[in-house]
Amino acid sequence: MYRAKAYSATSATSPLASTTIARRDATEHDVEIEILYCGICHSDLHQVRNEWSGVMPTVYPCVPGHEIVGRVSKVGPAVKFKAGDLAAVGCMVDSDGTCPECRAGLEQFCPNPTFTYNFPDKHLGGVTYGGYSESVVVDERFVLRVPDNLDLAGAAPLLCAGITTYSPMRHWGVTAGKKVGVVGLGGLGHMGVKFAHALGAHVVVFTTSPGKKDDAVRLGADEVVISRNTGEMGKHTGSFDFILDAVSADHDIGSYIQLLRRDGNITLVGAPEKPLAVAAFGLIMGRRSLSGSPIGGIAETQEMLDFCGAHGFGADVEVIPIQKVNEAYERLVKADVKYRFSIDMASLRGE
Ligand code: NAP
Ligand code: ZN
Repeated sequence: MYRAKAYSATSATSPLASTTIARRDATEHDVEIEILYCGICHSDLHQVRNEWSGVMPTVYPCVPGHEIVGRVSKVGPAVKFKAGDLAAVGCMVDSDGTCPECRAGLEQFCPNPTFTYNFPDKHLGGVTYGGYSESVVVDERFVLRVPDNLDLAGAAPLLCAGITTYSPMRHWGVTAGKKVGVVGLGGLGHMGVKFAHALGAHVVVFTTSPGKKDDAVRLGADEVVISRNTGEMGKHTGSFDFILDAVSADHDIGSYIQLLRRDGNITLVGAPEKPLAVAAFGLIMGRRSLSGSPIGGIAETQEMLDFCGAHGFGADVEVIPIQKVNEAYERLVKADVKYRFSIDMASLRGE
């Protein structure tokens, strides 16, 4: 066991602050990674503030962070990675490996997963600690390869925002000729736009922020709708094959269900604190469907990273030192991020 520098929250109302945490020494199948960048996901904020208390209550101290990119610093004897390799870790660090979901490569649905933070730690006891830290030790089955043409600060957010938007688009058949909506131009949403565009779809962004219009087009949107304008919304009634809803707060999902064509699907990836109201007739008329989707499996995460490498894009990031993390959280609540904060972990090593 060794101690690593990290930032943690000690309660739902306290800011993140500097601390040290225990990490296990790399065992046979483990990879120790020196973390270079860690993205800030809105889920980190939900979790730190215990906004998901009904589903996954936060255990304090909480070290968030599940968009991790770094360099391998040590490996166990049975590991394929070697010291110096680029490596990445997302939202999961373990699963049972034997259930039908794991055998199908869908570890995100394993009934016995270990998430990267706030989950029982099988090795050290207590809970797992995430990527707002100088290093992490992970079983190699959950370590991804980073294409070497990608900027590392922009690659980190792919590990959650990337896979969470890529996976449902692949599942629901987003291809050329499809009309696809993306609701909420934040960390997830802006990756959703990039993927839908790269997959050849006609992409419409729905935003509450008129100031993001030009960026939406630059990111790949064919049209941008200010969602508070009911006239603009109405023009799209009954026309979408697929809509990805990546909003972090309460909003009127019914107004988007109306925009689906027959058999169209809206997938929720956003996970607001409170339940959303859904009117039955919105779904009944048109046989529309509403579903959700969590991250993606390990093989699909690698596929997504390779897709990004082949297309030469990562996330659009604002790189910050870890000392600005609390300020970044306040800006996240105000939808004021373009379009993902990525923490430069050199700032933590320097403390
Ligand atoms: P984010 O960067 O904060 O983006 C959320 C966006 O939602 C904002 O930029 C804003 O876009 C829109 N928004 C915020 N408040 C709103 C409101 N009151 N009404 C309407 N729109 C609003 O967050 P994120 O990191 O992308 O995460 C989005 C959600 O996905 C979070 O709830 C997060 O926990 C969840 N998540 C789920 C998974 C999964 O596996 N399913 C994975 C990661 C994250 P505009 O300014 O364009 O309106
Ligand atoms: Zn996330």
